[in-house]
Amino acid sequence: MRKPIIAGNWKMFKTVPEALAFAAEVKGKAEVDGVDSVICAPFTNLPALVEALKGTQVKVGAQNLHFEDNGAFTGEISGLMLKELGVEYVIIGHSERRAYFAETDEIVNKKVLAAFKHGLTPIVCVGEKLEEREAGQTKDVCRVQTLGAFEGVSAEQAVQVVVAYEPIWAIGTGKSSTADDANEVIGYIREQLAGKYGAAVADAIRIQYGGSVKPGNIREYMQQSHIDGALVGGASLEPASYIQLVEGA
Ligand code: PGA
Repeated sequence: MRKPIIAGNWKMFKTVPEALAFAAEVKGKAEVDGVDSVICAPFTNLPALVEALKGTQVKVGAQNLHFEDNGAFTGEISGLMLKELGVEYVIIGHSERRAYFAETDEIVNKKVLAAFKHGLTPIVCVGEKLEEREAGQTKDVCRVQTLGAFEGVSAEQAVQVVVAYEPIWAIGTGKSSTADDANEVIGYIREQLAGKYGAAVADAIRIQYGGSVKPGNIREYMQQSHIDGALVGGASLEPASYIQLVEGA
């Protein structure tokens, strides 16, 4: 049985006082046995959030990392630095990073390997653009992105990866994929992982759906055979809504 995981992706939202107010609200509430709960916050919030959520079941994640440990990379943050803060998860290859910051499958893969080097759990995002979906390329895009991200990842590491299938046209648009469609693509992603690692490993890898998930639709996704939780942007910003998402999982 795969343990469901709800991950909030705050993107570039919340100052430190706002993050602390959120932490105070969700403490003891966004904590449900049998569900992993993670908040992926801006770098500037991470130390305060780690401290505020210490001893709770709500874990803290970053939204990006650089694949080198250190070097002349102005403005970047490494896995080594995140680990030192007590961060446990990191989102890698979000479509906004791929689109606005030119992250390729090769860079995503280097970041996945860097996350493992520092004991961080990667949440690897894959998903197609609207024009790719319309051209019938959804599965091809997801296969290439998934296998690219897992290049050089051992079976032992693979079972720890969280994959997030996020169709780009569904992110922040209010247009979510139907639960059946999302399940079909996620099932296909699992098949690709089974081709690489075998069925036992693929069956242990958690794959989330992401894209306009909210308290009102989380249960539809969770009822699907292959969907193991959600990566949530907008609806993770309000404590009440985040708590409902964790409860809904
Ligand atoms: P959304 O974002 O929930 O606001 O659609 C999801 C994401 O970008 O991870």
